[in-house]
Amino acid sequence: MTDVPKTAVRPKVAFFDFACCEGCQLQVANLGESLLDILGAIDVVEFREVMSEKWDKDYDVAIIEGSITDSHAEERIKKIRARSKVLIAYGACAAIGGVNGMKNSFQLDEIRGYVYGKDYKFFDSTKTRPVHQVVKVDYFVNGCPVYPPELLEVLKCALRGLPYTVPDNPVCSECKLNENVCMYERGVACMGPWTKAGCNSWCVNNGNICYGCRGEVRNPAKNAAQDVIGRFNLNPETVRGKFDMYNKCKEGDNGNK
Ligand code: SF4
Ligand code: SF4
Ligand code: SF4
Repeated sequence: MTDVPKTAVRPKVAFFDFACCEGCQLQVANLGESLLDILGAIDVVEFREVMSEKWDKDYDVAIIEGSITDSHAEERIKKIRARSKVLIAYGACAAIGGVNGMKNSFQLDEIRGYVYGKDYKFFDSTKTRPVHQVVKVDYFVNGCPVYPPELLEVLKCALRGLPYTVPDNPVCSECKLNENVCMYERGVACMGPWTKAGCNSWCVNNGNICYGCRGEVRNPAKNAAQDVIGRFNLNPETVRGKFDMYNKCKEGDNGNK
């Protein structure tokens, strides 16, 4: 059992999704018994998958998945923020822009024309922004998808009014503790040295590289990183390109306090 407080008046919690693949919602379902325990302590009042949005409601906690990619989304997230005591951005799309940020590598009209054809001006589209670049965010759950134990931890903090700090040490620190053979020793470039930990080096534990989905550490060990690039004869542009897959919305504070 978790230690989520059960009170007579249960907090009203709402889930909303914006531009995303909804994979992080699946991770909510994957919480299993822990989810059932949390559900016993909250009142889910909005969940697009099962009910229509009702704008006459206020929320104790709004849980946001996805990026803000058009003016309608901007208007909608502002309304949600105005009605929410606490707002959680969960998943890379919401927390750092994620894969949707790749759109920002192109001129907006160019990418709109590519997607919508000659009538693209009828289709609204703006630069991709993570949620905190539009409204205040109280909690972040990084990752694509979110790592279920961290999601659970953040939900518990939000429901108990406690702070949560996104880890700001590199994935390598967790990877070493998990005694993985480093991907670089296998001749494969891995983004772990530059990426925020907190996923327990999830991908590397399962034979993959780290793709940088949790965003960049604030103070990367630049000398160590250059040493890795030099020692393994990597092209820095290739490394940068891999990192861009999730991290093209960097301007301004990345918000993961
Ligand atoms: S963070 Fe990844 S898994 Fe989650 S909604 Fe975005 S693309 Fe999907
Ligand atoms: S570079 Fe990748 S594989 Fe090597 S220690 Fe860091 S996270 Fe692990
Ligand atoms: S190992 Fe890297 S890509 Fe995989 S979940 Fe962790 S931060 Fe994301």
